[in-house]
Amino acid sequence: MRFRQLAVWALGFGATTAAAAATLYRGATLLTLAAAAAPIPDGYLLVGDDGRIAAAGAGNGEADPAVAAAKAKPGFAVAELKGRIVMPGFVSGHSHLWQSAFRGIGPATELKAWLQALHYTYGAHFGAGDFGAFTKHGAYDQLRHGVTTTYNHSHWFGRNFAWYREQFEAEQETPQRFVFAWVNEGQADDAVWRERLRPAMAAVQPAPDRALLGLSINATGIYRGPALFAREIALAKEFGLTVQVHYLEPAASQVEDRAAWPKFKAAGAVFRGMSFAHFIHPDDVMLGEAAAAGAAMIWNPLSNGRLGSGLPPIERYLEDGLRVGMGVDGQASADISDPFENVRFGLYALRLRRENSGGLQPIDVLRLHTLKTAEVLGVERWVGSLEVGKFADFLVVDPAEPATGPVWDPAAHLVFACSSRNVAEVYIGGRKVVAAGKVLGHDAAALEADVAARIAGMKRKAGKL
Ligand SMILES: [Zn+2]
Repeated sequence: MRFRQLAVWALGFGATTAAAAATLYRGATLLTLAAAAAPIPDGYLLVGDDGRIAAAGAGNGEADPAVAAAKAKPGFAVAELKGRIVMPGFVSGHSHLWQSAFRGIGPATELKAWLQALHYTYGAHFGAGDFGAFTKHGAYDQLRHGVTTTYNHSHWFGRNFAWYREQFEAEQETPQRFVFAWVNEGQADDAVWRERLRPAMAAVQPAPDRALLGLSINATGIYRGPALFAREIALAKEFGLTVQVHYLEPAASQVEDRAAWPKFKAAGAVFRGMSFAHFIHPDDVMLGEAAAAGAAMIWNPLSNGRLGSGLPPIERYLEDGLRVGMGVDGQASADISDPFENVRFGLYALRLRRENSGGLQPIDVLRLHTLKTAEVLGVERWVGSLEVGKFADFLVVDPAEPATGPVWDPAAHLVFACSSRNVAEVYIGGRKVVAAGKVLGHDAAALEADVAARIAGMKRKAGKL
């Protein structure tokens, strides 16, 4: 059994397709989103035959020795992208992919009642194959919208481990890159945790054609007791893993939630590996301590808006040195996983509160949802910006389809005028995985039908049909 698992985990998604030849993408407006880099009006991106970025810069690349070397090899190709915008794929720092099958649920609820409508109503009815089908549904959906790397904060629902692990396996069968946040629920024994984590750890071998980028811990001890929480944090540190915890999300419980801060400190959870999902209502002391420890938060504007959770003071966080990433959260609380809408809505919300247009600018939110999120997840060596050596994970955005008019300012145009409908192509590791809104080589209709049938069955079991 274990051998079979390892064999599956070791399979790169590119293993079944021929390696691409080096390709020069040129003529596009290029946003590398590397630190402090400005958009390049007419740039080139050279993708090597190894699926990594070999060169990037202004002009047509003719003067670049890397381009000359690539040209000399057989199969070299040129893609003319005049009028298009090339940018890194978005990174979602907080998601629950299985929720993709539950969009629109609990429309009038805030977090607590929403959890009742979703987790506590349907969680007990998950059976074999459900987590896997729903996770794939969510991963393909994010991919179509331009999210090339996601942090999948997995759930368990007290069912069995094989069903739970379908979330991990399903993602390796889709091209979208992921960091898997391992939940320990039901795995009370430290030895069991280690036994289950080790083979998963062994599967973490980031490469251009492999979806799995890393593991993390979804720590639930903050809800289930300080001893468990301390063990979770200790385990994460032992394995060198990051940790993510939902914290300070609903406005209604913010006073009690802030009172839990000493528990984080007692467990050793305020450290550089920690990212707080949401972190909307900290007080000044907590903010200062989190920033000083190098901890991070993941901002999920669409989800926070949908659930009426609140608007974190992002500009203040950045000024105070807190690391900030962005996420599209699960599709049952940010029902369209459109990262363009996520950055636009977030930026507008901050401006609504400020009553002016100072503060964050379009290029800043684009960088937050790409490179900065990759940094929070500890995967910036591989993804998050278009820099030499990183995996060639990028979007070709076509502002003309659907038509959005002339482009005055590329970053502003992406954030204010474009949506994921303008994503013409998505590349992962140099391989085209999405074209015109369709994931290539994927039978979307069959998956939709499977998911619909599973949901109908689940509704019957829950007495909702
Ligand atoms: Zn969440």
